[in-house]
Amino acid sequence: MPRILITGAAGFLGSHLCDRFIAEDYEVIGMDNLLTGKLRNIEHLFPLKQFQFYHHDVTKFVHIPGKLEYILHFASPASPIDYLKMPIQTMKVGSLGTHNLLGLALAKKARILVASTSEIYGDPTQHPQTEEYWGNVNPIGPRGVYDEAKRFLEALTMAYHNFHGLETRIVRIFNTYGPRMRLNDGRALPTFFRQAILGQDITVFGNGTQTRSFCYVSDLVEGIYRLLLSNYHLPVNIGNPQEIPILQLAEEVVTFTGASSQIIYEPLPLDDPKQRQPDITKARNLLGWEPKVSRQEGMKKTYDYFKEVIATAASLDEVL
Ligand code: UDP
Repeated sequence: MPRILITGAAGFLGSHLCDRFIAEDYEVIGMDNLLTGKLRNIEHLFPLKQFQFYHHDVTKFVHIPGKLEYILHFASPASPIDYLKMPIQTMKVGSLGTHNLLGLALAKKARILVASTSEIYGDPTQHPQTEEYWGNVNPIGPRGVYDEAKRFLEALTMAYHNFHGLETRIVRIFNTYGPRMRLNDGRALPTFFRQAILGQDITVFGNGTQTRSFCYVSDLVEGIYRLLLSNYHLPVNIGNPQEIPILQLAEEVVTFTGASSQIIYEPLPLDDPKQRQPDITKARNLLGWEPKVSRQEGMKKTYDYFKEVIATAASLDEVL
């Protein structure tokens, strides 16, 4: 049974990756410091012999006894309000944390896949974004702590590949959504759903013409699984190219939920990217991958999850 370490295991993406590798018959070691992760995302795995959980901060030395074939590095605050609240931790997990995990991979002769992001493209001047585009990032703006940490993560990973011959993979993740997102993580999709479910005003930032392209989580997990097992070490975009203005997303949520909410406009945050759409030619050609889940289907599953979370919460404070 191959053994895999997944950091950020209690987070949105990490927990879905744990599920996938358990289903593929891997022995999974989940690691998380629970800064933004939630144990409820992985508590169903605790009874399994195949699963172990380490409550640990990867910016500190990481020790794993025994063999290890693979590492997935997904630990990081990842929503704009989280990394604004935790700027230093965000920079440390992308830099020191990545360094520790690359060192661990080297010691164990393991293959490591690191989570990068479309944020490395910043406010892009090329559209859609191909992997060859270098990006347009403001290093000292509010988003700089995340964007630059992830750019450093890519540079360090390439250095380990080139200097040590380490087997590395880099995924550039575009906006992803689905069950286990936190209702209060501040991102557009959970925020709009929360506001719709509670009958509150829907807060669109700016005039809502800025675009994003949303990928359902199971599609993303499939792309990451294929990339890990591929033999390609350069960055690969994984995302859904279906692009939508944020105002249209807000309107879709209102229609979808039948909410009586009004759309209201609030100031656009500094350095908010105006457009974002992945060019997924590489993923198509190298991995035979493309997204399968429509927004309609993905929104339904996500809505059902959010409704359940709100209905079963002991108090609203717990989820908001
Ligand atoms: N956004 C919004 N209202 C909200 C939260 C976000 O209009 O309550 C906007 C945000 O300014 C951005 C887009 O929605 O233009 C996507 O934001 P999100 O935080 O989901 O992701 P990111 O900006 O990291 O792509």
